[in-house]
Formats: sequence, C-alpha cells, structure tokens
Amino acid sequence: MNWSVLFFDLDDTLYSNSNGLWEAIRGRMTDYLRDPLGFPPDEIQEIRRSYFETYGTTLRGLQINHSVDTEEYLAYVHDLPLEEYISPDVQLHDLLVSLPQRKWIFTNADSNHAMRVLGILGLEDCFDGIIDVRALGFLCKPEPQAYQRALAFTDETDPANCVLFDDSLRNLKPAQAAGFTTVLVGTNETQPGADYSVKKLDDLPQVFPQLWWINSHPG
Ligand SMILES: [Mg+2]
Repeated sequence: MNWSVLFFDLDDTLYSNSNGLWEAIRGRMTDYLRDPLGFPPDEIQEIRRSYFETYGTTLRGLQINHSVDTEEYLAYVHDLPLEEYISPDVQLHDLLVSLPQRKWIFTNADSNHAMRVLGILGLEDCFDGIIDVRALGFLCKPEPQAYQRALAFTDETDPANCVLFDDSLRNLKPAQAAGFTTVLVGTNETQPGADYSVKKLDDLPQVFPQLWWINSHPG
C-alpha cells in the first residue's frame, strides 16, 4: 500500500479524549441553544441528540431547521480557555513530522478553533492545511459527500491511498466504505469500521508501522 495522504480529525483525536475539552464545547452548545436561541432547557439534550444523529452536528441541524447565525454560533461554542485543557505535545509533533505522507486536518469544527488548538499543541507546522466545516460547505462527517470534498482539497484522487484518523467510529465507517484506510483513536479495541485502533496516536509506530515503510511521496 502506498499511502500518500493522511487525514486527521481534530478534537479528541490530536489530544486525549479525557481532558474535558470536548465536554466543555458541548456545554457551550447547550448554552447557546438555551440563550440566545431560546430552546426550552429540558428539551435541549434531545434536540442535540436528534440533530447529531440526523445531520452529523448540532450546527447542521440548526442550519437546516432554524435560522442561526453560523459565525456567531461557531465563535460562541469554541470560546473557551483552551490552555486549561491542552498543552504542547512535543512527542506527537515529532511523530507527525516523521510520517512521510502529506497531512490534513479534517474537522467538523471551524478553522479558527482548529488553528487555536494546533497552536497550543505546538503542531501548526505539521499539516498541509485545514479542511473545516466551512471548506466543506457545511457538509460534515459522516455524510459520504464530506469525504469526497475533503479528498478534492488534496492532489490525491484515490481514497485507497488515504488514511483517516478519528475518535468517532461513526465518522470512520463511511470513509472505510469509500476505500480509505481507517484508524480509530482513543481505544485499543478493534471495531468494525476501523482497520486499526490506537489508544493514542503515539502508539502508531507499534500498531501501524507500515505508514513509515514507504518512501516520501514526490511533490
Ligand atoms: Mg473528534
């Protein structure tokens, strides 16, 4: 296999899923639905669950079913003191730069949040670019079209030459169906939909050493 492009989810993939940041972002989403949007507090969890199941993200559900100021929403839900949750990760930096493939962030969040996270983790120089929810035209994983759009940002056309790293099995399944190699991050347990599973990206050299076996892709 000659993998040329690696796609990395951002939240709960590039940092530990147990540090509380994603829970904090979810809390901000709940706050936003209560005020300013004015949803009844006792219905918000069910509305968010339903939007997540149906549309992939709360934002997508809001866009389709309500009038929502997308930029205001994205700024609000990510307005958190990120330094209290994440810190520089030199080990991950060194691992990423040692991988010969081109690397892209592929996230359902927005690029402002992604750049802040990468800045604090010290990983800004590890990626060729950020494919965010705006770049995807507000389509999002796990919609199958989102993966095709992400691929179009790269100079690779064959999904078989691509790997997706994501902490969400739900996001990996359509990628595997489209021909990507898939890596579930956050658990060692093998799962249908994931070709490999790693507790942390730091475990990749042991679990998926083939990534380092190919020569650097030209160009
Ligand atoms: Mg994630």
